[in-house]
Amino acid sequence: MIELHDIRKTYRVGDLDLPVLKGVSLDIADGEYVAIMGSSGSGKSTLMNLLGSLDYPTAGTFRLDGTDITTLSEAELATFRSRQIGFVFQNFNLLPRTSALDNVLLPTLYVNDGRSQRERVEYAEQLLETVGLGGRLDHTPNQLSGGEKQRVAIARSLINRPKLLLADEPTGNLDSKTEQEILQVFRKLNQDHGITIIVVTHDAEVAHEADRVIHVKDGLIAGDVVKPRSAERAPSPAASRPRESVARGNRQAALASAFNAVGVAAAAMRRNALRTMLTMLGVIIGVASVVSVMELSSGATVAIKDTVSSMGASMLTINPSRGSSSSRRMREVQLLPDDVTAVAMNCSAVKVAAPLVYSEIQLVRGNLRWRPKFCMGTSSEYLAARNWGDLDMGRSFTHQQILDSAKVCVIGKTVADQLFPDEYPIGQEVRANGVSLRVIGVLAPKGGDIIGNDQDDILIGPWTTFKYRIDGGSAPQQRRTTFSDRLPPMQLVSHSAAHRDKSIHQIYIQAQSPEQVAEAREQITSLLCRRHDVDPAGAFQINDITEVTKVVGQVVGGLSALGMVIAAVSLVVGGVGIMNIMLVSVTERTREIGLRMAVGANRRAILRQFLIEATVLCLIGGVVGIVAGHLWSMWVGTVVGWPTVMSIWAPLTAIGVAATVGVIFGYYPARAASRLNPIDALRYE
Ligand code: ADP
Ligand code: MG
Repeated sequence: MIELHDIRKTYRVGDLDLPVLKGVSLDIADGEYVAIMGSSGSGKSTLMNLLGSLDYPTAGTFRLDGTDITTLSEAELATFRSRQIGFVFQNFNLLPRTSALDNVLLPTLYVNDGRSQRERVEYAEQLLETVGLGGRLDHTPNQLSGGEKQRVAIARSLINRPKLLLADEPTGNLDSKTEQEILQVFRKLNQDHGITIIVVTHDAEVAHEADRVIHVKDGLIAGDVVKPRSAERAPSPAASRPRESVARGNRQAALASAFNAVGVAAAAMRRNALRTMLTMLGVIIGVASVVSVMELSSGATVAIKDTVSSMGASMLTINPSRGSSSSRRMREVQLLPDDVTAVAMNCSAVKVAAPLVYSEIQLVRGNLRWRPKFCMGTSSEYLAARNWGDLDMGRSFTHQQILDSAKVCVIGKTVADQLFPDEYPIGQEVRANGVSLRVIGVLAPKGGDIIGNDQDDILIGPWTTFKYRIDGGSAPQQRRTTFSDRLPPMQLVSHSAAHRDKSIHQIYIQAQSPEQVAEAREQITSLLCRRHDVDPAGAFQINDITEVTKVVGQVVGGLSALGMVIAAVSLVVGGVGIMNIMLVSVTERTREIGLRMAVGANRRAILRQFLIEATVLCLIGGVVGIVAGHLWSMWVGTVVGWPTVMSIWAPLTAIGVAATVGVIFGYYPARAASRLNPIDALRYE
């Protein structure tokens, strides 16, 4: 079964070559029970590790069961090891805080031999029964004595039905009674199950049990004694029992192993719960900031779009230019009511044109006084264009009421609440700067606009009423209380006075569509310049809100980009935290890694395990972060009064980013773990 030929092993310590095995040749047959004896430092463990294919020899050939070990790749070796060889160590090497049953099942994680998980568990229970631990499946290593731990380790070494059992000083840490019990287990395994057993020991008692004793001295074989009784013993039929034959359950086993990897990761994380939580905190904060920045900025974008559409994306205003005019053709011009009609009739891109007359008005109702923030005279088209067409109560004023300068008005919700706290406002009289107006309608509430102005604090009337009855049409900032301003229209004397008196403050325009705003602007400019005989440049100021929207959108975009940068930085910080903890974990669990490799895990399995661990850490952090970020943005939203939009993209991005962070930052420690040499890892202190 085992053929060693002129095996040499030389360690390099610093600049020094340290030959440990100096040409060992050895044949061991199937079903033998061999003890390797020698003093400490003679190279027994080194030989054992070579036999177990945990290490490559420096020179020589090694055939195990007909396979030349030195030609196998690392992954092939791992598979070979997991199927053919069981290891028992002096210091047991059980996984702490893991039940006896799970310890026994550990090697099955790394083989795919067609057994279902249930068969494996049953076999593990049976093995524990065989070594006398049938009733202690759930016990963790710290609840077991040394001898019991070693029995668990023996059961573990047998779980994959190996042909060869290697034990390195298996009783070195045990008292002599327990030693005898362990030796009986070996004897039974050898006799009843035909397993080849090689025990390394410096203890003559242990060697005495074996059928063949090989003495090692200074890296060479000094003696090889075969006891007569081994010849009498026929190989048991169990030795030739069929190994795996079915591919059934292969998928099941693969699934189970992926599931197990997650389970292993979860267990490792639970072992250091506080540390895990602190590590996750970085990811949680990072993901939470990504989510809240995304939600808040998309909320802001929606709010801006809403404002734009409520103000009308296709809205323009025409103002007379107030710039000083040096040129004759650049003189100050005023907007006239006729301009409104002309614009509405002649400009094809214009849908609605409405005059606007502003005023500062003190409203009095009984002993209640109120100064609305917005007071304007206009036409009913304006209300329709501003989406105020549907009134809460009453109705809007008619064209006839405009012609008559009727003493009527429409008020916003805030004004109604202030002046008519417990009355039905429609039909009531209110005094506006001394003029009695009848309330004929209350506007549907609109709430605050984007900069917080209460849009319901408003009084609207026919523009003629504002102009000729209430205030003479002076805008607050340019109030001119000349004599002619106060005269009724029919008493106008001079042309200029009549001209000024007929002027309105602003024309409100709605283009046919937001796309036609530019076209409307051109048509209006040329029309008004023709009508007033002025230069196009500077005579009128035509504003539209697309500029405003653009600027606000850019600001919000810039702010959210900034937020994203900060979020990304905290994610990176979180990732570095994970990397740090994973590196600590790799160092801490070096022996565990060595053990896993000894029982058959290859580099990829180790890499995968640590990657999964980092990813699970990040994903849990990601999920918690999403919830935290969402709650945070909702809280900020309610406190600041900013709408939030919960999008599916925020959590998806966050999860994606979290997983990526896990993989990227987990890769280095995972690779470091997988690069460990199994022997060095097992010896690590
Ligand atoms: P033992 O017979 O006690 O099991 P070992 O096989 O463990 O002896 O070690 C044999 C010799 O090889 C010792 O002198 C030890 O110092 C040396 N040795 C073992 N492993 C290494 C290593 N990884 N690097 C350097 N020297 C080693
Ligand atoms: Mg040793």
